[in-house]
Amino acid sequence: MSELRDLYQELIVDHYRRPHNYGPLVGANRHAEGFNPLCGDRLTLSLNVVDGMIKELRFEGVGCAISTASASLMTDALKGKTEAQAEAMFQHFQALVTGTDKAEAPVSLGKLEVLAGVREFPVRVKCATLAWHTLLAALHSVKQPVSTE
Ligand code: ZN
Repeated sequence: MSELRDLYQELIVDHYRRPHNYGPLVGANRHAEGFNPLCGDRLTLSLNVVDGMIKELRFEGVGCAISTASASLMTDALKGKTEAQAEAMFQHFQALVTGTDKAEAPVSLGKLEVLAGVREFPVRVKCATLAWHTLLAALHSVKQPVSTE
């Protein structure tokens, strides 16, 4: 079990050092900003949504390892998904990191499951979910920056 934990941490560190889908997105038609005042994580998410499908998405910003890795993994996971699938994944991801998914039928979230460990650290849950809250704001075209507080 501890070997598994080490592997997971390695994946988080890897995504933090070399985040995927990082930078501005040319041709984006949805944007949202997110801020986690507890930790100081800040990110801007840009999406290109065509006919209800997320064709492309990228993020920029500064944050801790967990928030950056979460945004990196999220952008990988959501490329090519429909808006409805993305919202369903948000629900499952939130259940995963808050530890409330036990009663439900388990849904595989792939690599995103490395972030399940944050459930033991309530402050870190906000770091892990920041990108997802920002995603929802972008899909719903919310103009105000999102705050986890
Ligand atoms: Zn953070």
